[in-house]
Amino acid sequence: MTADSTNVQSLTDALMTICGREFVRVEGEMTSVSPASTEEVAAVLRAANSYGMAVTAWGSGSKQGWGGARKAALILHTDRLTAVREHTWQDMTCIVEAGCSWSKLQEALLQHGQFVALDPLWSDRATIGGIVATNDSGSLRHRYGSLRDLVIGMTIVLADGTVAKTGGKVVKNVAGYDLHKLMTGAMGTLGVITDVAFRLHSIPRHTCSVVVRSLDVGLLGTLLLQILDSHLSTERLQVRGGGDGFFLDLGLVAMPDVLLDQTNAVTAMAEKLGLVASEASSAEWDARQALFDRADGVLAKATMMPSDIAHFSAAVRELGGDCVTQAVGVMTLSVPVSATDQVVHLRQQLEAKRGSLTILRQPDEAVIEPWGTLPDTMPLMRAIKQRFDPQHILNPGRYLGGI
Ligand SMILES: Cc1cc2nc3c(=O)[nH]c(=O)nc-3n(C[C@H](O)[C@H](O)[C@H](O)COP(=O)(O)OP(=O)(O)OC[C@H]3O[C@@H](n4cnc5c(N)ncnc54)[C@H](O)[C@@H]3O)c2cc1C
Repeated sequence: MTADSTNVQSLTDALMTICGREFVRVEGEMTSVSPASTEEVAAVLRAANSYGMAVTAWGSGSKQGWGGARKAALILHTDRLTAVREHTWQDMTCIVEAGCSWSKLQEALLQHGQFVALDPLWSDRATIGGIVATNDSGSLRHRYGSLRDLVIGMTIVLADGTVAKTGGKVVKNVAGYDLHKLMTGAMGTLGVITDVAFRLHSIPRHTCSVVVRSLDVGLLGTLLLQILDSHLSTERLQVRGGGDGFFLDLGLVAMPDVLLDQTNAVTAMAEKLGLVASEASSAEWDARQALFDRADGVLAKATMMPSDIAHFSAAVRELGGDCVTQAVGVMTLSVPVSATDQVVHLRQQLEAKRGSLTILRQPDEAVIEPWGTLPDTMPLMRAIKQRFDPQHILNPGRYLGGI
């Protein structure tokens, strides 16, 4: 959606009245605004909607390239919405504004030995709004679930400026539709999140990591399934694969003597398969993020059944790539640009097994469609988008099917 220059000027004037002159910046055809409250966000969106101007919510900007990324003419920064507003540690809940960085929130919660039990990418700079909008999660998902399980409420501003509070700060609180679950992972296409309420967990005091290495990923796949079928108190479980071979990383959480028993049990399970388990540092849990450090190549996220992890880890290695797969079946993979065509083939194989592959980053010369085969629910999703954002001003074109 484009707006003519008279409209852009009128909108800019309106934004300056809403947020203050110093919080509106115009650079070429791009206008940026930093509202300081939910009310200001609502007024900004109301104005943008009335001029038909496309808006992108912007956290730290670290993953604006993901999806069918197109730059909107108006960037709504959440850099003045950074407060940890409430930490009701007795109730194990908190409310935090969308522009707060993940690490700042966790530091605040640490004072009472609590945390939001999730390990998203780039926690030092990624914001709450961006993480929730992209539904990012790491290996802790194994024990604590994904963001949808941890978010218990939200304030969202719809495209027309309507402020909607969904959920609350009571863990069991839902009367009506769980709208905040709909917002989680919607890539900012249904509304702008201004604050989020999370349920909290106590930070475990005793954990340990075990690593098992093998050149035969099939054996690691067998061990993975045995661990999933066991009574071990697993906190995290992942398979890494690439040029260095294959590794299974297991994180356990329990009291110290139980941890020792469990480590011995894993060692015995590994030995039965002819494998060696050894104690590990916690550095391997950063392996997913390290995949993004490779500047070139194609980065993708794939989903699969846990029983298919070994097969697809081997397939990625054959393409000269590296991958890290959480045991729930979520793989992050990086392959050289020379293997672009094979990535499309890999997607077909995954889809045939009811999995998926979405592109997170690709070089300019690679032109893989980001989302893959569209789901049957597309008409329903379009109807939801139409209801929430009839003028399609929120992140147009970013989501599946060009929503
Ligand atoms: C699948 C996936 C791929 C990733 N790929 C990369 C990558 O290639 N490079 C990289 O550096 N990081 C990447 N990340 C990590 C990312 O940096 C962080 O996990 C986090 O999502 C980004 O937070 P941000 O504040 O930078 O959000 P942004 O990048 O600013 O925004 C991300 C999305 O969230 C929306 N959004 C932001 N704030 C709000 C809000 N308040 N309300 C509604 N919508 C909002 C934006 O419009 C955008 O669609 C990826 C994460 C995921 C889940």
